[in-house]
Amino acid sequence: MEAQQVDVAGNLDRVRQRIAAAAARAGRSPDEIVLLAVSKNQPLNLVRQAIAAGQRDFGENLVEEAWQKFVDPGSAASLTGALPAALLPDPGVRLHLIGPIQSRKAPRAVACRPALIHAVDRLKIAERLNRFAGEAGLALDVLLEVNISGEASKFGFSPDGLWQAVDSLLTLPHLRVAGLMTIPPENPDPENARPYFAALRRLRDRLAERYPSVAWRHLSMGMSHDFEAAIAEGATIVRVGTAIFGPRP
Ligand SMILES: *Cc1c(COP(=O)(O)O)cnc(C)c1O
Repeated sequence: MEAQQVDVAGNLDRVRQRIAAAAARAGRSPDEIVLLAVSKNQPLNLVRQAIAAGQRDFGENLVEEAWQKFVDPGSAASLTGALPAALLPDPGVRLHLIGPIQSRKAPRAVACRPALIHAVDRLKIAERLNRFAGEAGLALDVLLEVNISGEASKFGFSPDGLWQAVDSLLTLPHLRVAGLMTIPPENPDPENARPYFAALRRLRDRLAERYPSVAWRHLSMGMSHDFEAAIAEGATIVRVGTAIFGPRP
């Protein structure tokens, strides 16, 4: 399997160095920035290599895949190249759900006990997550996904839609809103993503002014090709897949 040739530990090292350099250029501490290793579509053996190299935060797009890889690995034998052995409960490993969550997947998303849900993109899914978190006696940390570019193909609240929904979102007792997330338009030049990252930061700053009791701590923005630009604009979580695990099989 080609994927098994990937030097995950070396890639992680290089990504961490690039994060540190980008933080230094922005006058920030690298400790403010969480490296999220996006392991979607990647086999468990690569995830384990990353864990062995000290990586702790992992991101998955699909709730079912997250469940199979991180919660119930007995069911993971069906995944290509996966080794059926438990990753969780490894107390140090934190699972993040970074993809849009379908309504019917809300119970299982909560059952995954994610450290953070990055892509709450409409009030209805927030209400569903709140309901199941309440039933499970959990408080769920979530980010609100913003479609900052206004592209029709993108998930997320429009900035206006977010201002309309935010009062309702903040009254859901079992969700703790921890910040914002965005995916800029696809573009090979990371400089072109910077205005979108900056716009998300400004929106966060305005929300923090208006709702000072909420911890608008996180800006989840930046992927393999543009995380340095995102760090320059204030990212606190970068979601990096390919640069760590190689191309997805
Ligand atoms: C796949 C994905 C990533 C990682 O993308 P890479 O380009 O492989 O780093 C980050 N965020 C989200 C939401 C994704 O779906």
